[in-house]
Amino acid sequence: MKITRVRTRQVDVPLPAPFYPAWAPGGVVTQIRLAYVRIDTDAGIYGVAGHEFFGAEEQCVRRVADYLVGEDPLRIEQHAGTLRYLWPYFGTAVWFVELALWDIVGKVAGLPVYRLLGSAHDTLPLYASTGQNRTPAQRADDARRLRDEGFRAIKLRVHNETLAEDVAQVAAVRRAVGDDMAIMVDANQTDVDDAPLPGPHWTYHRALSTARALAEYGVTWLEEPLPRHAYAALRRLHGASPVPIAGGEVNQGFAELQRLLLDGCYDILQPDVTLCEGLLRIRALAVMAQAAGVLVTPHTWGDPLGTVANLHLAASIANTTFFEYPHDPPAFPASAYQQTLKTPLVVEDGVVRLPQAPGLGVDLQDWVFE
Ligand SMILES: [Mg+2]
Repeated sequence: MKITRVRTRQVDVPLPAPFYPAWAPGGVVTQIRLAYVRIDTDAGIYGVAGHEFFGAEEQCVRRVADYLVGEDPLRIEQHAGTLRYLWPYFGTAVWFVELALWDIVGKVAGLPVYRLLGSAHDTLPLYASTGQNRTPAQRADDARRLRDEGFRAIKLRVHNETLAEDVAQVAAVRRAVGDDMAIMVDANQTDVDDAPLPGPHWTYHRALSTARALAEYGVTWLEEPLPRHAYAALRRLHGASPVPIAGGEVNQGFAELQRLLLDGCYDILQPDVTLCEGLLRIRALAVMAQAAGVLVTPHTWGDPLGTVANLHLAASIANTTFFEYPHDPPAFPASAYQQTLKTPLVVEDGVVRLPQAPGLGVDLQDWVFE
């Protein structure tokens, strides 16, 4: 089998209401921009993959095609090497190409990708991942609604100036849902140092004080409390925090992710197979994490094929937990970004069923690549 063509498309998906991302104070999002790649073969089998648009996809995919066309798509180790070679030029835009190859591998084998990689779970519990920094009263209402939809876990964003305001939101949600839901808390601090955005920049002591305060509310984890390269401070925090510390979604390449693990930075690693590294290397990282007693639950946001690819990774490993499900109605419901799929993911009572068709197991609407 040989690769005959590699193409990319950019798609803008409107959101049903303005969305104010907690990680970009003052910003408003009315649509999400997605990028897709499709790899065709001379056997009539094709692979697709997607992620949030980063800007370099078209140039990246054109360059990738120079190396891939005429090659055997099943040689993933070789192609993953090519992507790492191109990574310094195109950044995050390279990783999703590997996922389209996995889609082909699964279709050739007649198996969903997670079944090829370990098949540890056929279903996974989800956490409703919210994205806005809302008032305690609003979030309490949201949490009750999500609980009534069947979710047993919710992730909140804390981006207030003071620790007291952050804790008030978590306290209100705990009061609203009691012990019916697990609560995760995301501070999105791993790239604020470099980002031209307003909003609080946490120090080690703010992070530790927050962790101590959140312990009273039985928080499942505190996510992204410090900059992504603050290895020594993360290690200290991990040692001192009474609640588990999670992160890793914006670290790049196997070496950085491995360092987070070896330096003991996190209890829970959150690599994203569209943002951080390819699936082959992140699957290997998950084995190292298991040996170190660390959980892996991938980050995902905004694009359904990226979510599905990360879902296959999570379902293939034993050392995972609640899976991230971006869902913050009314502005950012899962149904909005799943418009590009022919059939949306099957979620019942807060649990997702792994797609059972071969490959990534979902297909894009025909209009994406027409
Ligand atoms: Mg996060």
